[in-house]
Amino acid sequence: MPRIMTDTDYDLAIIGGGVTGTALLYLLSRYTTLKKIVLIEKYNNVATVNSARTHNSQTLHFGDIETNYTLEKSRKVAKAANMVKLYLESEKNPKLFSKYNKMVLAIGSEQSFELRKRYEEFHELFPNLKIINKKSIGELEPMVVKGRPEQQELLALSTDEGYTVDFENLSHSFLENARKHNPYLQTLFKSKMRSLKWSSDHYSIGIGDIGIGIGIGIGKISKTITARVVVVCTGGNALMMAQKLGYGRHLSLLSVAGSFYWAQNVLNGKVYTLQNRKLPFAAIHGDPEVHNKTQIRFGPTAKAIPFLERYNWSSFFDYVKSCGLNFSSLRALFEILSDKVIFIYILRNTLYDLPFIGKRLFIREARKIIPTLKLEQLNFAKGMGGTRPQIVNTLTRKLELGEAKIVGQNIIFNITPSPGASSCLNNAYVDTLKIMEFFKDEFACDKDAIKKDLIDRN
Ligand SMILES: Cc1cc2nc3c(=O)[nH]c(=O)nc-3n(C[C@H](O)[C@H](O)[C@H](O)COP(=O)(O)OP(=O)(O)OC[C@H]3O[C@@H](n4cnc5c(N)ncnc54)[C@H](O)[C@@H]3O)c2cc1C
Repeated sequence: MPRIMTDTDYDLAIIGGGVTGTALLYLLSRYTTLKKIVLIEKYNNVATVNSARTHNSQTLHFGDIETNYTLEKSRKVAKAANMVKLYLESEKNPKLFSKYNKMVLAIGSEQSFELRKRYEEFHELFPNLKIINKKSIGELEPMVVKGRPEQQELLALSTDEGYTVDFENLSHSFLENARKHNPYLQTLFKSKMRSLKWSSDHYSIGIGDIGIGIGIGIGKISKTITARVVVVCTGGNALMMAQKLGYGRHLSLLSVAGSFYWAQNVLNGKVYTLQNRKLPFAAIHGDPEVHNKTQIRFGPTAKAIPFLERYNWSSFFDYVKSCGLNFSSLRALFEILSDKVIFIYILRNTLYDLPFIGKRLFIREARKIIPTLKLEQLNFAKGMGGTRPQIVNTLTRKLELGEAKIVGQNIIFNITPSPGASSCLNNAYVDTLKIMEFFKDEFACDKDAIKKDLIDRN
């Protein structure tokens, strides 16, 4: 017998209101007939964690200047980022993004050789990408060339497609547009999901206030709602929630926090350096702020922390649960961190956050971009930078790069390290198709309209 639906029964619940959750909310509300949706967010607004303006590098990653991506990975990333680009262009809202020049820099003959090879391989996928010499680099970015030895070879791949995105405002825009298209949409803020149980044809979701960070299963539940399908978009937290229901038990997490340093007026656009393919974290880059091109952000750094949420000390308990304090998880984390390249990298990056010594070490990296940068020009960006939940496979004992999606009985869990914000709409599209499948086509999805608006449009 079908269940009688009341005010607290929904067809779909999205847990987590970052850019991942709000992108899904938008896509479903705008392009499907599924309307009885609830968004559950533990803080009092959307995008206050990793999607916050202050917590990421604000870059729409296409894979053109990210030299740790293979051609195959860049193809995927570019397709996903293009959906966000098309959304941004159609909204025509300056609060959402700015466009600067961007380049990746090769320093010296060895790196230049590598970059030339990369250009040959990638320029078909990215026809706007130009290979430019020292003189042209100097015209675009005088401070990058100033102070370098005369004989030092300098080469760059450059494009004017440097989309710099305020992912916090983008999340607000998704929510506003979702509301316009879906009058039945409910949002529950200051509502932390504390329990999740499947019973025959729906999930019961226990909700409490934020309280301390101890996650699911613990803490007072003040309200219970139900949903036939649930999508969990809570960043690193999603793994812990999946494991509670018996999914993803072979996975663990390395939480990699990123910090930034500020300098004023030293770049005109984004400048990246060549990246180490072995590391899943971007090499330090310089980026003008999305709403203030004179403020240049250098970073992000990468240090392992035992917290799921940066600056939220109580998320330590959630991190311990996500890692699963078991032998295979600890062994995998130990093996990964004892790799010489990763260990030295993480150790050095941990020092960058320390007072006095941090700035003096970090400036060496920043000077690869701006050789004449002075210590007094550089300031630690206090309270900024989130954390990337890097997936660890405890069976292979290897880091799994990119986002992870765990699909279970009428439920999807999204775990979103960088460049998760760039792929938010593609991720939402994949989830939308899966959700339609869960509902056995009870609801309709206008795929043609999605393709026309967000995929095929030129
Ligand atoms: C230093 C750094 C730099 C980065 N740079 C870039 C970049 O330049 N480009 C890019 O594309 N990506 C970048 N990323 C990655 C990007 O920030 C993330 O992939 C993206 O923001 C993830 O969005 P999300 O919505 O999945 O997670 P989040 O933004 O973290 O949102 C998760 C939401 O879930 C909520 N939540 C958690 N638990 C619960 C619960 N129990 N109940 C209810 N709600 C809950 C949280 O409050 C939060 O609002 C960067 C990340 C970092 C850390």
